[in-house]
Amino acid sequence: TAKILDGKWLSKSLRQKLRERAAILLEGGIQPGLAVVLLGDDPASKVYVNNKVRACEECGVKSFRHALPPNTTEKSVLSTIAALNADPEIHGILVQTPLPSHINMRRILESISIDKDVDGFHLYNIGGLVVGNSIFPPCTPYGVQLLLETAGIDVSGKNVVVVGASNIVGKPMALMLLQKEATITICHIKTRDLAQHTILADILIVAAGQPKLIVPQMVKRGVVVIDVGINRMPDGSIVGDVDFDGVRKKASWITPVPGGVGPMTVTMLIENTVHAAERKKL
Ligand code: NAD
Repeated sequence: TAKILDGKWLSKSLRQKLRERAAILLEGGIQPGLAVVLLGDDPASKVYVNNKVRACEECGVKSFRHALPPNTTEKSVLSTIAALNADPEIHGILVQTPLPSHINMRRILESISIDKDVDGFHLYNIGGLVVGNSIFPPCTPYGVQLLLETAGIDVSGKNVVVVGASNIVGKPMALMLLQKEATITICHIKTRDLAQHTILADILIVAAGQPKLIVPQMVKRGVVVIDVGINRMPDGSIVGDVDFDGVRKKASWITPVPGGVGPMTVTMLIENTVHAAERKKL
């Protein structure tokens, strides 16, 4: 049975190091600062924002919460971001998605200063991913990459299959591992016969939002499985996209849900924020 890729444990040790880096900055008179802009009252978004604020506190990063009512105009959001761009106490700006439908998300993301784009969603950073030198890699794929590296799993030359092609997980994940010279396949909802692709994976990364999308007969023995999915079941429990108990018997490594990719995502946000503050110091 597979060994566990323990994101909770790795996050803990990474956060310890981030706390030390933040303390060094503070000695130089700089406290890393993260502004979180939350628009509307989506309950899941509130939970995510609370987790991020708590992680900031844990690492000595100052957080600034900007909760705006759901009917806030786009113009008003843009002026909030302009003020944060100009504020020397703020090193990172994060706009929690999803945004209400009257707001043009791309316009908002493109208004964030590229030096403060700690989510890595600005076109400049996305372009950086394509050519292999983004300043701020997006947090979830960045966390997955670190989980693999820490376990000593080399991706070079491997068949990596990414299930899910979203702008925040699947596509940047594929680009980052392509940069590490993996052979990449990206699957999505229109992919015919998903199993035909997943069965060839040495490393399978699943970010689809579908419980039990991946079952044992879809993977080969020894596969490394990264489950990015977060699905809330009717009984309140949280599961990933992979049939964990079944697939675990065939895999060599697997991430649990919760306790795998989730904590890493938040930790990489803090990493990007501390990095933003360090860059400013130079
Ligand atoms: P999304 O809905 O934007 O994208 C889902 C992608 O999966 C799409 O490309 C879609 O085509 C594909 N897909 C959906 N059903 C499929 C199927 N049956 N077969 C093949 N492909 C399919 O979602 P997202 O924002 O990329 O998030 C994906 C999942 O990861 C969600 O469960 C989300 O909650 C979770 N997530 C977790 C973290 C974390 O930190 N662990 C971070 C972001 C997202």
